[in-house]
Amino acid sequence: MTRINQNSYERLIDENEIRIDGRKLDELRPINIEVGILTNAYGSALLHHGKNKILAAVFGPRELHPRHLALPDRALVRCEYRMTTFSVEERKSPAPSRREIELSKVIRESLEPAIFTHLYPRTSVDVFIEVLQADGGTRCDGITAASTALADAGVPLRDLVVACAVGKVEGHILLDLDDIEDKKGEADMPIAILPRNKEVTLLQMDGQLSREEFQRALDLAIKGCEQIHEMQKEALRKKYSEIQEEVLEELNEFSEKEENQD
Ligand code: UDP
Repeated sequence: MTRINQNSYERLIDENEIRIDGRKLDELRPINIEVGILTNAYGSALLHHGKNKILAAVFGPRELHPRHLALPDRALVRCEYRMTTFSVEERKSPAPSRREIELSKVIRESLEPAIFTHLYPRTSVDVFIEVLQADGGTRCDGITAASTALADAGVPLRDLVVACAVGKVEGHILLDLDDIEDKKGEADMPIAILPRNKEVTLLQMDGQLSREEFQRALDLAIKGCEQIHEMQKEALRKKYSEIQEEVLEELNEFSEKEENQD
């Protein structure tokens, strides 16, 4: 959320309120979500969002190591957010940065309220988020991808968690800031919600908004989250309808074989 000298760029929003990448003020970048793409993880999701490419993998609930970390009444949720060395323009050091450690904590805290951890005492649920390519809003995409991967892993959830950022750029309230808007803008506000009851599990803000701007930004973020939530559900449905088709095909083949034998 680094701010950059406003004078070092041309304008990001034109007189018709169109952004530099052609989007309207309240428009999301194109999003595609795929689930179940890693065979070794319990659940996984790959999220393409504009230029962001984020991979999430979930392991668990499973036996916890080291055992002394075990919680007697619930599962321990652990989260690791990492940026690959090639994910940003300047090579990112492979050593975990303070930012990655902070974001791992922030993402874990935004996912945990959705998980029925009390059903799995003394176990761990491990969430890994790899940013393969970054262009602003990767903590939000990490949350969205991770919660989709949790659902794919069959971890019991109160709801999916879905996140997106809103902010203020050149006096306008914008949905889904990309890297340049994040850096040049006056404010950036990532938000995660449980969409069913609109419970907020993450709300951060860098910069300043008036009370009225904050309310408008919050409403816009919730609308953005609702759109992304539909895509999460669609990605999960797609995988399971494919599995259903495969199972039905196998059942048909099996019953045909049985009939032939009779
Ligand atoms: N970024 C970068 N190098 C870094 C960290 C971040 O170039 O070491 C870029 C990246 O595109 C990221 C953006 O800065 O998405 C905004 O980073 P921020 O810390 O605000 O987190 P994010 O918006 O990704 O959640």
